[in-house]
Amino acid sequence: MFEKVLIANRGEIALRIHRACREMGIKTVAVHSTADAEAMHVRLADEAVCIGPAPARESYLNKAAIISAATITGADAIHPGYGFLSENADFAEMVEDHGIVFIGPTPAHIRMMGDKVTAKKAAIEAGLPVVPGSPGAVNSLEEAEEVAEKAGYPVLIKASAGGGGRGMKVARSRSELAEAWSTARTEAQNAFGNPEVYMEKYLGNPRHIEIQILADNHGNVVHLGERDCSLQRRHQKVLEEAPSPILTAEQRAAIGEVATTAMRRIGYRNAGTIEFLYENGEFFFIEMNTRLQVEHPVTEAVTGLDLVREQLRIAAGQELGYSQKDISFSGHAIECRINAEDPETFRPCPGTVVDYHPPGGLGVRVDSGLFAGAKVPPHYDSMIAKLIVHGPSRAECLNRLRRSLGEFVVGGVDSTIPLHKLLVENPDFMAGDYDIRWLEKFLAKD
Ligand code: ADP
Repeated sequence: MFEKVLIANRGEIALRIHRACREMGIKTVAVHSTADAEAMHVRLADEAVCIGPAPARESYLNKAAIISAATITGADAIHPGYGFLSENADFAEMVEDHGIVFIGPTPAHIRMMGDKVTAKKAAIEAGLPVVPGSPGAVNSLEEAEEVAEKAGYPVLIKASAGGGGRGMKVARSRSELAEAWSTARTEAQNAFGNPEVYMEKYLGNPRHIEIQILADNHGNVVHLGERDCSLQRRHQKVLEEAPSPILTAEQRAAIGEVATTAMRRIGYRNAGTIEFLYENGEFFFIEMNTRLQVEHPVTEAVTGLDLVREQLRIAAGQELGYSQKDISFSGHAIECRINAEDPETFRPCPGTVVDYHPPGGLGVRVDSGLFAGAKVPPHYDSMIAKLIVHGPSRAECLNRLRRSLGEFVVGGVDSTIPLHKLLVENPDFMAGDYDIRWLEKFLAKD
């Protein structure tokens, strides 16, 4: 096992990784920007290195500074968390070139899945069902028209380099296509420095259901079931649950089998998530995330596995040590993403937390770096905490979630706790009756 791991991230996920390392007797190195000098992960780590000023570009995205920090402190592995450099194949390669273990998949797999056009091709070859659309990149408006005629309107134009829900445009009819095509390309160029787009049939009312995969370096692959992430605003997840309220055990086993077979075919290793849209009983691959995800704790709650621990074990060359039949699912878990934002306008609200009281009790977990006096800098993502609640059934989980949200106090900055309180009282949500458009409609009504 590793002796010392450098955590190339910040906030709750840096702390999450530190906790797994500490329990395994592994020393940790925190890296941080000047804005995060007082952060909880920095305080708790065995060592800390300042890697640059507040803007992420100059600190958390600064590959050379991070690798220097690892070399100076003698770290033998780097965990990238999510976001920042977690899906940057060049970074993973640089880390390996320096004789340091990258805790994640191979640079080749990151590259394959990082570009959505190559990812979709790989998915098709590996036997995953995909959303009907263009076979690859769409290079001209004429080609876009042909694809749209074939797939049928509405169609979605998506950036090959896309992420975070950006660079996506719907065309509902032929008359909207030219504009959607050029705005998607411009947005893709501005956001990702790459104007390439591809096209998919725009599904009307799907759910977002994703499968968690674990694969070791010895050919063992298992799935840990699904997460339902259909509650989204602007294609960004707001709340996630496991299991999905609408899948049967047979459907879970079937899609899990398809996913693990595909991962075996491509020779994937470490943790990964295959994202699908699900409509009328059918799954359609949309993308694969080659990293730990924000919502991984709901899977931990229902399987009892520590995903970061598994990632560390796999990266150190250990075998999984269990097979699919050893994985069982227990109860129901829901995660609320709590952001430092106005709960109505979603305007980010950085500042200083003056009061902090997280909920507790049986089945309640809060992943957060917050404390009274903590600073929420304006430079980064606005997520400040995740509340994860587990119960024997979905109904009991909801009661516990309602109770926990009522106890949660974050003072000094606005937070989205009030939004979650509304959601857990909503009859549609309580019935599990929602799709990826539901939340936007709910917000528009208020
Ligand atoms: P990103 O990497 O930007 O998050 P994804 O491909 O994962 O992009 O899609 C994000 C979200 O956008 C999905 O969860 C879904 O809500 C919506 N979406 C993506 N593809 C389609 C599609 N073909 N039809 C309808 N909605 C889609």
